Amino acid sequence: MVYKRSLSAKIILLVEIILLLSSVLFCGVSIYRARIGIRKAIQQRMLDIANCASGSVSGDVLKSLTKEDVGSEEYNRVYHTLSIFRDNVELEYVYSIRDEGNGSFIFTIDLDPETPASFGDSVKYTEALASAARGQAAVDEVPYSDAWGEFYSAYSPVRDSTGAVAGIIAVDFSADWFEDQLSAQTRSTILSYGAILVLTLFVAAFLALITVRPYVRMHEELLKEKVSAESANRAKSDFLANMSHEIRTPINAVLGMNEMILRESRQALGMRDGGRENALQNISIYAGDVESAGHSLLGIVNDILDFSRIEAGRMDLAEAPYQLGSLLNDVSNMVLFKAQEKGLDFAVDVDETLPDHLCGDGQRVRQIFTNLLNNAVKYTEQGSVRLTLRGERKGSADLVLKASVEDTGIGIRAEDMDKLFTKFQRLDLEHNSTVEGAGLGLAITRRLLELMGGGIEVQSEYGKGSVFRVTIPQKIVSDEAVGDFQKRFEAAAAEAEGYRESFHAPSAHVLIVDDTRMNLTVAVNLLKKTLLQIDTADSGADAVALAQKKVYDVILMDQRMPEMDGTEALNRIRNDADGLNRLTPVICLTADAVIGAKERYLAEGFSDYLTKPIDSAALERMLRKYLPAEKITVVYEEKKPEEPGAGKGTGTSPEETALEALRPAGIDPDVGLGYCMNDIGFYLSVLRDYAGNAGEAGERLQRFCDNRDWKSYEIQVHALKSTSKTIGAKELSDAASFLEEAASVGDAAGIRERHGAMMARYEALVRSIREAVPGAEPDLPDAEILEFEPMEFVPDGETV
Ligand code: ADP
Repeated sequence: MVYKRSLSAKIILLVEIILLLSSVLFCGVSIYRARIGIRKAIQQRMLDIANCASGSVSGDVLKSLTKEDVGSEEYNRVYHTLSIFRDNVELEYVYSIRDEGNGSFIFTIDLDPETPASFGDSVKYTEALASAARGQAAVDEVPYSDAWGEFYSAYSPVRDSTGAVAGIIAVDFSADWFEDQLSAQTRSTILSYGAILVLTLFVAAFLALITVRPYVRMHEELLKEKVSAESANRAKSDFLANMSHEIRTPINAVLGMNEMILRESRQALGMRDGGRENALQNISIYAGDVESAGHSLLGIVNDILDFSRIEAGRMDLAEAPYQLGSLLNDVSNMVLFKAQEKGLDFAVDVDETLPDHLCGDGQRVRQIFTNLLNNAVKYTEQGSVRLTLRGERKGSADLVLKASVEDTGIGIRAEDMDKLFTKFQRLDLEHNSTVEGAGLGLAITRRLLELMGGGIEVQSEYGKGSVFRVTIPQKIVSDEAVGDFQKRFEAAAAEAEGYRESFHAPSAHVLIVDDTRMNLTVAVNLLKKTLLQIDTADSGADAVALAQKKVYDVILMDQRMPEMDGTEALNRIRNDADGLNRLTPVICLTADAVIGAKERYLAEGFSDYLTKPIDSAALERMLRKYLPAEKITVVYEEKKPEEPGAGKGTGTSPEETALEALRPAGIDPDVGLGYCMNDIGFYLSVLRDYAGNAGEAGERLQRFCDNRDWKSYEIQVHALKSTSKTIGAKELSDAASFLEEAASVGDAAGIRERHGAMMARYEALVRSIREAVPGAEPDLPDAEILEFEPMEFVPDGETV
């Protein structure tokens, strides 16, 4: 603005200077010319006076006067005539002159009352006098000095009856008078010109102002438009870049998870045992991820649509009755879930006398609350989010809802406040780069509030938190109060509060590696309450670099990463001769949850394996297993849901006793139960099936081995691997897995070497099941095993 203002001032100043200079020049020339004119006018006046005097005297008389006539009647008459004239014009020096020839002139009559010249005294020669002697009246151009002072004289010839010059009448004007006249008139001329000059300048300035102002305004407008177009353009480019990222993330998740669903489904089709349950569980997890990614995508698209509707002026509000309590319930539950995921406290404070039945656009009111509360959770890393709702009644039918959403988050810089509601504008990106958002939520919120006749205000302290206050006018449908919403909400919140961190390890250092920032954020947040010291790396190369600088107690490594994958990063860390983390346990994080994947990753050198999406309890269990015991303080022992009979307080049931008896044979019933949805009855039936099929399965294995039919052997041993895993027989499953590998490459020697030991283990295990599990007797139908179909081997390229 300063620049623009100075531009208009500059143009006006330039015009003024040009006008001033030309006016001064014009005035100077005019004053000079006026001064010449004034001088001429004064001289003309002097001549007029002299002519008047000469006209009053008779030339014939004047010519005839001699020195002797001085004092005669005739002389006195002429003298008297001239005296009357002199008194009339109030001049001192009036006299008559005679031309004596040869440039000599003499006084004939002198009216000077004090020291008059005598007849015949010589008169000083001047050009003007000579001109009058020739018959042409004239005034001295320059003053002359004589005994009477300094004068300009006006000379006028007196002619006789023949027309000849008979004498000259001279009237003297003092040089002071002449100069006074000249300067007085010049001064008034200068004043007039000065006044004109000033007036001209004012008029010119005014004209310049009104002529230039529209251009300056236009220029200002253009500049303003340019700046706002540039910023809109920048915001749009940022938006597009941001959007493609925001949209790609959920689309990748949808495609990736769908791929997993397809694989698991195909595999599940071939399963008849507990593995199918396991696959179904995975499928439902992946489907959940697809759903949440789909919702996130839909949210983005809805925001864009809402915004374009608002921009096009086509956003109409649909007025209808709705229930405030139910709206608050939905919104609060949604926020509670998100807040709990981030370890934030969420409180709701609703005036219980507020009417429950309102009329307005409930969907849009919900959207306003959701936007503000979601932002509060999104931009808060620790502390709390609080929703306060009050109302102000306007008469019996109207209510202004007054809500405030307060957080203890990152806050907003003072200089960013005015950009807060700008479309596509996201602030503080250096701190918010991992936070999802299109920069449309607040712009939409404000426009919706404006459409409803409400408003929004923000107060924020950077680094401390923000408060968003909104007012929403609504109609009251009935006076029934919303009631103690708080109590209801707190009860629900307490119920939802299932999670409790199982340990604290503030001195333990953990490195989490994942190329997807969102996954890093999730992992870090899942572990927040354990107080671990967590570093993150978003690429394999970064992880290797960090591992060269700092000793970690555990490294959680994503497997699928571009450029350097988890396995390569692991190898580099392990093979670094001077490495600080050669012996650090490295746990593989992967969405590769299919059976056999774990073995593959363990074979690649990972210490253990966790599937994504990460289950917080599993993650904590894993860390408790690998972190140095001295660094861990256990704060909460997770109650194992799979513990049969847990919570019934009746001690150990016969089934539990039966399951415990399986442990010495190499079966971990906890694992087996886990695959059977912790349903002990279901697990026992799986065990019976397993034992029942064993005769046939064992016989086939032996036959294929004897016949060196490695293709069939591979299929059969693969089935054994997976069914054994499902019942919790890890070692047997591992042994089968080894033989499966050997069969796949036709390694006859390897198979022969290990086949016997595996079969012995298999037999012993089946025997223990038959002994321990009622109903698992040897003569059960055993045809099922034949129905195992070959499983697809998982290719190496699946996505996360
Ligand atoms: P976004 O989708 O990016 O969250 P919004 O329009 O909802 O878009 O918000 C615009 C920007 O305002 C955000 O990118 C963020 O920088 C800032 N912002 C909004 N709410 C908060 C808050 N509660 N605390 C701190 N910053 C906020």
